[in-house]
Amino acid sequence: MYHKVNPNPRTGGLGLRVPPGKFEWQMKYLKKNGYETVSLTDVLDHFQRGKKLPNKPIVITFDDGYKDNHDFAYPIMKKYGYTGTIFVVSKAIGNTNFFDVEKKLQPENKIMNWHEIKELDQAGFIIGAHTVDHPHLAKVAPEAAKYQIEESKRALEYGLKKPVEVFAYPYGSYNDQVAQLTQQAGYRAAVTTKLGLAKQESDPFKIHRIRVTGRYSNKRFIEELHNY
Ligand SMILES: [Zn+2]
Repeated sequence: MYHKVNPNPRTGGLGLRVPPGKFEWQMKYLKKNGYETVSLTDVLDHFQRGKKLPNKPIVITFDDGYKDNHDFAYPIMKKYGYTGTIFVVSKAIGNTNFFDVEKKLQPENKIMNWHEIKELDQAGFIIGAHTVDHPHLAKVAPEAAKYQIEESKRALEYGLKKPVEVFAYPYGSYNDQVAQLTQQAGYRAAVTTKLGLAKQESDPFKIHRIRVTGRYSNKRFIEELHNY
């Protein structure tokens, strides 16, 4: 689970920002050690229908849809033949991370525009939904959560002209009802911010991830990869 891949310290702290040099080292390490990127739906197809996966499959995800994913992460991943999954906040497209700026959680960052999102989609990246405006889904009324989950899917599908099948809960905020609403909206899976691997027995609407922050040394990155 990544957020920003950006060299500029003014775009935010290292909790959510991995500098491109570090990110490149990580991609290179994964490639050298035989990891191949797959999509979340490949993983579901494997668990649910026995679809074959490479020996060391990995899903590389990015939350929020930052423009730096297009500008910095994508060229590096392309070099190694990798693709990822980007969970986009639909109302923020072509705009900024207003949802974090309003709460004074993060400095202002650009979010990809439709042109950039479509370019990544064409390059084999998967575009997933991350609500309309990034609320804590477990804290809002069920009708509001339903709207956020459904409307973000509709908006992305309208722009991409293809089904949007995966979802990420903002702030990792969800409960059983939110997970159920996500399933009912027609998604195939949703990811949380709980730490761990996706397993055969995982609930597809409560999939765990491994967090990568900009503070991790190369050694810590390797440890995190093997920690679960
Ligand atoms: Zn987010």
